Amino acid sequence: MSTILVIGAGGVSSVAVHKMAMNADIFSDIHLASRTRSKCDSIAASVKSRTGQDVATYEIDAEEVPAMVNLIRKIKPSLVVNLALPYQDLPIMDACLEAGVSYLDTANYEPKDEAKFEYHWQWAYHDRFKEAGLMALLGSGFDPGVTSVFTMWLKKHKLKTIRQLDILDCNGGDHGQAFATNFNPEINIREVTAPARHWENGAWVETPAMAVKQTFDFDQVGEKNMYLMYHEELESLAKFLPELERARFWMTFGDEYIKHLTVLQAVGMTGIEPVRYQGRDIIPLQFLAAVLPKPETLGSTTKGKTNIGVIATGEALDGSGEKTFYINNICDHEDAFEETGNQAVSYTTGVPAMIGSAMMLTGKWSGEGVFNMEQMDPDPFMDMLNAHGLPWNVVEMDGPVSF
Ligand code: NDP
Repeated sequence: MSTILVIGAGGVSSVAVHKMAMNADIFSDIHLASRTRSKCDSIAASVKSRTGQDVATYEIDAEEVPAMVNLIRKIKPSLVVNLALPYQDLPIMDACLEAGVSYLDTANYEPKDEAKFEYHWQWAYHDRFKEAGLMALLGSGFDPGVTSVFTMWLKKHKLKTIRQLDILDCNGGDHGQAFATNFNPEINIREVTAPARHWENGAWVETPAMAVKQTFDFDQVGEKNMYLMYHEELESLAKFLPELERARFWMTFGDEYIKHLTVLQAVGMTGIEPVRYQGRDIIPLQFLAAVLPKPETLGSTTKGKTNIGVIATGEALDGSGEKTFYINNICDHEDAFEETGNQAVSYTTGVPAMIGSAMMLTGKWSGEGVFNMEQMDPDPFMDMLNAHGLPWNVVEMDGPVSF
């Protein structure tokens, strides 16, 4: 029985809060705070009608540390779950330290003026969380999050060492719009327009954004083009699996998405440097995000499935030589919408945020300091994925990937 405080009221938060309310034995008292209180209220109303559970709501600017500390002291939660934006990670961690409460998020800190997805800012909090006897769990979404847990499950049950790792993120959903992003447009576009980076023989190899393309036949989705990208779990996987010779991240994009993004980039609409317009500074990407469809409005029209997984090659645990395994989850957009009112991209992130929180609240995962998912026992998390809407499947492949 625990009190929980969730920050942020977007699609991911909506799924996580619905799922917490469906598990009232663990999350008995749910509080939701965000910049716009009306969004918290509509999540609370949906949770009430679907589950009968109450959610208390508050307005907060999570970048105002003293206000956050006051709110935490008033609610006295066992855990603060940060489902706002990566910009708020450090102020929320500061508030947790000051108010003496543990922390969880789904995306690593990013400064507003630089599209850099790196853990070092948050890893630097390790000693302070340790000294305070608190735990911070970083990246408990799908990718990062489940992809790291999948990898560590393979390492625990199938492979003694992992030589090659490919993370394949496919969204085969169609939302019926010419151009839209499935999660926060500003964060999404910053991510896909950043140079690609993968880990090879102990160093990062950088290539231009969206320059390396492969075609892959995804189960229950079909053939899709996927592009080499940088993604934040590569940094923690390279750190915690020192034997990795190569680790890469691939994401699928349709031709229409690429066409629109190319034009928007070419005309400067994806820039994050301020531009002077009619006497005030505006950031082109923030303006673009404001005119694009809101991800939470795409749920009712999105059809199709996501298929996200990990292909790992290494020495088999049973001594039978080199083996390759593919472990993945397939999630249906319409099923996700029916259950929580949100499409599968929010669902596949919000469910692992609930599960990571459950791991911490039940003590199945514990520690003092700042931790990544790779440092925890994958088994109880994998059990909860199966039980709470994200079942996974593992198959042995004929050999390593050919691309
Ligand atoms: P949304 O943009 O839909 O929601 C973000 C929410 O945070 C909004 O409610 C917003 O408020 C709120 N917010 C923004 N700034 C502040 C602030 N200063 N104080 C308080 N609240 C604030 O994003 P998503 O739900 O799509 O994504 C949420 C998080 O999940 C992001 O960090 C994203 O990067 C991460 N993510 C992780 C994935 C993974 O697999 N690991 C995959 C997808 C997303 P307002 O309503 O006023 O705008």
